[in-house]
Amino acid sequence: DLHMQFGPKLITSLPGPKATAAVAHDDRVISPSYTRSYPLVAKSGRGIRITDVDGNEFLDFAAGIAVNSTGHCHPDVVTAIQKQAAELIHISGTDFYYESMTQFADRLSAVAPMPGPHRFYYGNSGAEAVECALKVARYHTKRQHVISFFGAFHGRTMGALSLTGSKPQQKRRFAPLVPGVTHIEYPYAYRGCTGGPQEQEKFALGCARYIEDKLFKKTLPPEEVAAIFVEPIQGEGGYVVAPTNFLQELRAICDRHGILLVADEVQSGAGRTGKWWAIEHTGVQPDIVCMAKGIASGMPLGICMTRAEIMDWVPGSHASTFGGNPIAIASALATMDILEREGIANAEKIGGKMLDRLKGWTKTHALVGDVRGRGLMIGIELVLDKETREPATALRNRVETLCFEKGLLILGCGETSLRLCPPLIVNEQEATVALDILEEALSQVEEEHARASEA
Ligand code: PMP
Repeated sequence: DLHMQFGPKLITSLPGPKATAAVAHDDRVISPSYTRSYPLVAKSGRGIRITDVDGNEFLDFAAGIAVNSTGHCHPDVVTAIQKQAAELIHISGTDFYYESMTQFADRLSAVAPMPGPHRFYYGNSGAEAVECALKVARYHTKRQHVISFFGAFHGRTMGALSLTGSKPQQKRRFAPLVPGVTHIEYPYAYRGCTGGPQEQEKFALGCARYIEDKLFKKTLPPEEVAAIFVEPIQGEGGYVVAPTNFLQELRAICDRHGILLVADEVQSGAGRTGKWWAIEHTGVQPDIVCMAKGIASGMPLGICMTRAEIMDWVPGSHASTFGGNPIAIASALATMDILEREGIANAEKIGGKMLDRLKGWTKTHALVGDVRGRGLMIGIELVLDKETREPATALRNRVETLCFEKGLLILGCGETSLRLCPPLIVNEQEATVALDILEEALSQVEEEHARASEA
């Protein structure tokens, strides 16, 4: 019984001595570079399980931030990496060819959300994929400005950071950023609209129409706008699903003004939502797609894919020494096989079942304000009060920690949401156990909160 393995019975004291030693900071170190919700010190992974340095086992519903799409150390991925490492590790795609670089481009072309032919840039991360999209959009259109959204996360390099619109601390003291970025409202209905489905549609349309009705009329000449960058589902912003009419309207605006539509699918892509790309759920065709994370099961790979005529720069305009190195591509090819064979269909099936159960929690759990998502990209927004929708950030953080103590790895996102983004090969039993642990943690936090409120 998985409950026995991952439940509180297995984990008696966390973190153990080895983990404690590993996270103890030297006096001279001011603070760790990143905040961590809980002190996991990972040692090994297999499938959807992680073992820490003290031998504790966890169900991994964070998947290295939606990266381990095929689970940890999938045997096919391991074999592909080992075989490639013994054959050719690096040659640099900037100056030389290797077969797999074009093989993989062909495979991606076949599943692209817009018609081909396509062109590709291979980099090493999501941020580099976005950076490329920004440069190619400016180069191709010869326009300077771009539009992106509040709540957006596109990465931490200077261009991608400039497009990012989530947390102020990500930008503080890094200015001046890349000029020419205008942020506007994303259709985050739970935060921007208190009405029912019809009102929410209107709200979403209003968010898109603001571009022509206000921005283009008052401050930003449309003929100077190169691109609109949008996550079809905002990731770091809180797993917020953009309604179809919103993306359709963005497409129409882009078409009317010769603007490129860039879909940042770094977190939502590579099968996570039950289709190759999240934007496919809407039928909208982007001009450029950014991808990374789950595409190579954890090997560093970030890709910018465009319709061929868009990436029209002269050779050498943009490149990366390591980008798309043979090992990352080998891992990506193996990943694609697994996702096409089972992962994507499984994401739809298991994700749908999880979502059904979780939707019920908005009625049965005091803290659960909203549940949303597609496939295995599911967000749960916690609130102190369902009327006022006051964020419950501290309690959300407490749920994360309690889950860790009970043997489940999850991550927060947005101001007050929890995200579930397990490997796409997760089975029904594992999903059930994970939700049982989460529900137990949630109930415990609700009780603690009720007691504290009475006192
Ligand atoms: N775009 C999106 C939508 C992301 O979620 C992320 C990472 N969270 C990035 C870009 C940046 O990716 P990376 O951290 O690999 O640079």
